[in-house]
Amino acid sequence: MTDPLHEDGATAITSVAADGLYRATVPRGEGRRLYLFSRLARSYRLFDGLPSVTGGSAHFRQHPLTGEWISYSGVRQGRTFLPQTAECPLCAMTSGELKTDIPVDDYEVAIFTNRFAALTEEASPPPDMILETRPGTGICEVVSYSADHQASLSTIEPDRVALLLDALAIRCTELMANADIAYVMPFENRGREIGVTLDHPHGQIYALPHIPDRIKKAADAFRTDDPLAGLSQRLPEQLVLAKNKSGIAFVPPWARYPFEIWIVPHQQVADLAALGAEARADMAAPVRTAPGEHDGAFESAIAFPL
Ligand SMILES: [Zn+2]
Repeated sequence: MTDPLHEDGATAITSVAADGLYRATVPRGEGRRLYLFSRLARSYRLFDGLPSVTGGSAHFRQHPLTGEWISYSGVRQGRTFLPQTAECPLCAMTSGELKTDIPVDDYEVAIFTNRFAALTEEASPPPDMILETRPGTGICEVVSYSADHQASLSTIEPDRVALLLDALAIRCTELMANADIAYVMPFENRGREIGVTLDHPHGQIYALPHIPDRIKKAADAFRTDDPLAGLSQRLPEQLVLAKNKSGIAFVPPWARYPFEIWIVPHQQVADLAALGAEARADMAAPVRTAPGEHDGAFESAIAFPL
């Protein structure tokens, strides 16, 4: 919903109730969308944001030995690289001057189409090569869970983490409903050390046209049994970092990395939506624990994929 222009060029938009929370949906041109999630009804001042980026010929190439599909996209080379804080594309806009990807005066949880998407809904034909190729069909979204440039998953309020999990549940369900999508992965990469190009805390959602081999193998383990059943009773106490009635955060005895934490709900469910609102709210505690434990161990904000 939009109202007439303010003096500074902003338009007023209001959220509408949906799935236990409130959401404002903002078309951003070229098929891009911005979703603003909040627990209570609210309005936003909407400015003119950053424009679309096109090109990049997204496609997959098949690895000749493993058969895995590897994503290639030239448009990623042009993505915003470590901008000054004042030019951060994930900060809210205070006027029409410095444009961002979230062009509203404030927000709680924002999810929007990645301007530098590695995969696109309308993918062009893949290039002819000496190996198998496929169109780069898919959807890439960016997830920002605080307008505060300095925030982190472990320092924002548990209520905000619960809102984030609710918003992810909604978007993942919507993306999975797309006939071209076979697997949806929400994640967060944090830290310049692992290649993150924006310091503003944020996650991403990748909606893929196939199920990655590693995920397929892990999912197959649940076909006949629940390999993680009763885990919270079986784990040695010193490996448990947080536990409540809905889930657990722990260091796995099968850790692949020197520092590794798993966050697992007690219920075996297919996805975040199936977990239910109450369990998602409970999971906020173990979700906040993982980055907090890592930061505490190193006494600084440590890089991680989540
Ligand atoms: Zn920022």
